[in-house]
Amino acid sequence: MTAINCSKFFSEDVFTIKTMRNYLSVNAYDSLMETIRHRTSLDPRIADEVAEAMKTWAIEKDATHFTHWFQPLTGATAEKHDAFIDPDREGGCVMHFSGKELIQGEPDASSFPSGGLRTTFEARGYTAWDPTSPAFIKRGAKGSTLCIPTVFCSYSGEALDEKAPLLRSMDVLSKQVCRLAKLFGMDVDGGKRTYPTLGPEQEYFLIDKQFYESRLDLMQTGRTLFGRQPAKHQQMEDHYFGAIKPRIMAFMEDLDRELWRLGIPSKTRHNEVCPAQFEIAPVFEELSIAVDHNMLAMEVLRNVADEHGLVCLLHEKPFAGVNGSGKHNNWSIVDPTGRNWLTPGDNPHANAEFLTMICILMKAVDTNAALLRAAVASAGNDHRLGANEAPPAIISIFLGDQLYDVIEQLEKGKAKSSKNGGVIKIGVTSLPQFPRDATDRNRTSPFAFTGNKFEFRAVGSSQNCSAANTVLNTIAADAIADVCDELEAAIKAKKNFNETLQSILQRIVKKHKRILFNGDNYTAQWRAEAARRGLPNIMTTPEALKAFAAPATIRLFEKHGVLTKRELESRYNALFENYEKTIILEANCSVTIARTMIVSAALTYQLELASTIANTAKMLKAVKQTESKDLLRNVTEQIEATLKGCKSVELTVKAGHPDKILSAMSKLRTAVDELEALLPRDTWPLATYAEMMFII
Ligand code: ADP
Ligand code: MG
Repeated sequence: MTAINCSKFFSEDVFTIKTMRNYLSVNAYDSLMETIRHRTSLDPRIADEVAEAMKTWAIEKDATHFTHWFQPLTGATAEKHDAFIDPDREGGCVMHFSGKELIQGEPDASSFPSGGLRTTFEARGYTAWDPTSPAFIKRGAKGSTLCIPTVFCSYSGEALDEKAPLLRSMDVLSKQVCRLAKLFGMDVDGGKRTYPTLGPEQEYFLIDKQFYESRLDLMQTGRTLFGRQPAKHQQMEDHYFGAIKPRIMAFMEDLDRELWRLGIPSKTRHNEVCPAQFEIAPVFEELSIAVDHNMLAMEVLRNVADEHGLVCLLHEKPFAGVNGSGKHNNWSIVDPTGRNWLTPGDNPHANAEFLTMICILMKAVDTNAALLRAAVASAGNDHRLGANEAPPAIISIFLGDQLYDVIEQLEKGKAKSSKNGGVIKIGVTSLPQFPRDATDRNRTSPFAFTGNKFEFRAVGSSQNCSAANTVLNTIAADAIADVCDELEAAIKAKKNFNETLQSILQRIVKKHKRILFNGDNYTAQWRAEAARRGLPNIMTTPEALKAFAAPATIRLFEKHGVLTKRELESRYNALFENYEKTIILEANCSVTIARTMIVSAALTYQLELASTIANTAKMLKAVKQTESKDLLRNVTEQIEATLKGCKSVELTVKAGHPDKILSAMSKLRTAVDELEALLPRDTWPLATYAEMMFII
């Protein structure tokens, strides 16, 4: 076996900064670096040279085409390819790629959801190059394609995608963090910026392709609409961190290779709680890059699985009754000096900075809990949030006992005695060290402090996490701005900085302490307690999405220039429409499966049973066949229940109430799952849960 040195192929197919240096003139390189590092606008004069360099590099990598790669509101990525070829009128062709083609594209985008922002007769959308995210190569069997990350806007500049608001929210956060940093005496001169970091942990399922293809529900909706729980599923807890099976290992090795080739720093891989469930996590990166990489990673997961005769399920709840999949969103802020702001300091000054940010984030999350919930709302995630294996729909913050205690002492302020006899004085007191391990034990919290970052665990596995992070950045920026307003006013009035800060933080803790919860988030007691505290518990997507249309949300996003009222409305509409379409599609699919696959199989078995019983009765008059007749009765009743269930699903679809559709579907499911327990395995038309989870 030859030695594998992954540093040789890491970023092999990425137009990295290092690569640029080899393909660009010094002037163009310096100018582009300025844009990438300081987010200044691109000098259009270098566009042609950059395009030429990218083309040369891409052709060396077998590229025949280029595409603007973007993230519309469908939740997926989009691309439309153009060949480099330009016929030369002599029967040959030249390979052509201009600066104009690099900077701006015009996909015929009228079919993308825009929630009413762009009707088909209005101006078309366009894609604009995002130079801060590196171009990369997608390989096909006989060539490859140069992919250029872009944002997708209308001609009047309205965001039609996930990325434009994400980038805006990062700018807004940077501005406010710099303001706060300056107050703490950090050097923010010379165009310094700060940025959030993201390390998304991605959960997924793998099943054998042959089973997938027997399941119309998986193919059409991404989740199983029927399926009885097998005797053994995840209850033995023997899969989590278990030894990885050879077939999965082969998949994971190929997966990492592909990810590394694309510059995605995949770091950890392991078995998850449910059989057939796994997780990968990358090294964290600057937020917008991490989001692009996560979107790409989801695509690579699907493609590599396919090559191994597997199917990767990214749905939040592919199987009822067992764990679903999330995308733990590890988020932090890098300060203008390059240090992680959420690392507790080792001196009083650094601690003041740290505690200030913790309090600010308490305020941000408590004030905007409903908005955070809206940012992760989807039909798929509704099955997961609050399902006793995932964070509840109630947003709260876990700080760990030690930090919680510090926050309580801070609240008590000048009080004579507190739990540890101490009182936290901002800018004066040294904090105890918070060992990372001690803070990382609570796995039930939707928003947990894990030593040097917050982990927002409510994000769904299939979601583009841009929305969650756009909200997170914006609410953080807003809370920072409020604190800066007060501090700056105090400084102007020549008040003592530390004392002012102390009183601001005390006030924040008093007001927003209700958002803190260190206990078990899965319990009924917590739901009751959260209700007493007035924390929202929003169970469904239609309810949750309302937060996007709330006046306070519009004020918040317009104040910071992240989204306009129209843009917010369009998002609300697009998400709502997506939800309704999903529910109706699932309902129609369950009726199709029940009628055309389940009932027909059950009727065949019913006939077989009935004639067996009748024939047996002729030959063995003395035997009563009570149990056999019971079986026949059971099968018959469940067939009736299934057919009735189909009818009522259809009626609810016609009436169009998502809640009622879902409850009709669940009744239908109960009947079908009963039949699964009665029919012979060789006549059951769908792969079973046990087969899908264990034959892999
Ligand atoms: P766990 O949460 O399971 O304990 P880790 O702490 O190793 O696992 O990290 C989970 C994810 O958090 C990884 O993707 C890691 O890169 C990311 N992470 C670590 N530090 C930060 C940070 N400062 N900002 C954002 N993400 C981070
Ligand atoms: Mg984690």
